[in-house]
Amino acid sequence: GPDYVRAIAPYQGGRPIAEVAREFGLDEAKIVKLASNENPLGMPESAKQAMAAAIADAGRYPDGNGFELKAALTAKYGVPAEWITLGNGSNDILELSAHAFVQPGQSVIYAQYSFAVYPLAAQAVGARSLVIAAKDFGHDLDAMADAIEADTRLIFVANPNNPTGTFIPGDQIESFLKRVPPEVVVVLDEAYTEFLAPEQQYDSIAWVAKYPNLLVSRSMSKVYGLAGLRIGYGIAQAGITDLLNRIRQPFNVNSLAQAAAIAALNDHAFVQKSAQLNAAGYRQLTQAFDALKLRYLPSSGNFVMVKVGDDDGAGARVNLALLKQGVIVRPVGNYGLPQWLRISIGLEEENTIFIAALKKALA
Ligand code: PMP
Repeated sequence: GPDYVRAIAPYQGGRPIAEVAREFGLDEAKIVKLASNENPLGMPESAKQAMAAAIADAGRYPDGNGFELKAALTAKYGVPAEWITLGNGSNDILELSAHAFVQPGQSVIYAQYSFAVYPLAAQAVGARSLVIAAKDFGHDLDAMADAIEADTRLIFVANPNNPTGTFIPGDQIESFLKRVPPEVVVVLDEAYTEFLAPEQQYDSIAWVAKYPNLLVSRSMSKVYGLAGLRIGYGIAQAGITDLLNRIRQPFNVNSLAQAAAIAALNDHAFVQKSAQLNAAGYRQLTQAFDALKLRYLPSSGNFVMVKVGDDDGAGARVNLALLKQGVIVRPVGNYGLPQWLRISIGLEEENTIFIAALKKALA
């Protein structure tokens, strides 16, 4: 295979519950997993019912063009179906955009401490990555715009960012879009956008009509609680969308996921409840960090980064001490943050168990 494929370091996800239970001799049912930014409420009931009803037809291929799901998205956002790409998770959208727009040797721009899939997507197509130094753990959009080269084809911007939870106000993003030349596609990755506080919200979908090079990516794995079903979507003008749809797998989103997604998109009560639970959990965790005099990064997502020591072994050490107590969180040494851990916000009782385990781990 190509050297650039051999050079890829595999994605490191949250450790599976069954594997941790086996390794540490623990009861699976007692393990608390706060490692993958999932919705601690799980799937909405409405989506479970829709999925159960869809099983009857699962012997057939899914609708490869997602007619009904796109109709639901069209109704929600007021964009034509020709602007929507469905993905097997929003990960799929990110990877498709690298395949559709970047040739080997051309450059892709993203920020230091930004989502781990951006380097993977870039490397998989043999692109050169221009990694722009973070500012206060978040994106330095001015530096990212300054870094654009003649052969830059793609820029990834995560808002909020994972793993750091940083947020860029909408007006700053639009100023950035104005600086990006039309031949460079901007993927605005909004996997966590539904967790934004009311005063943070901005209308990126309205920008799609103004910027033919903008692709807004959204996930149904987070607030909508469908992580295991793998579904996300991209919204961009037809020029971008047409290319993404040419190269995606014909049946990239399965029928059960499509059915569940339609129900979840319309389940406003569930989304609201999830966002409220997240806000309360954020207060619970950050108050505990304050009491323990631990530094954390203010987060706009459903997770928080906390600094667990001053030496580069701290993250791995505290992570291991947590695993032994049956608590799975996410070490971020692979992001270049070995003194930190990323904690997904869980149910109140899960957060409580984590806090107690953290106190022991630090003692
Ligand atoms: N973007 C960001 C910033 C993420 O954190 C994640 C999930 N870790 C994704 C995209 C991909 O999520 P999914 O494929 O489940 O939609």
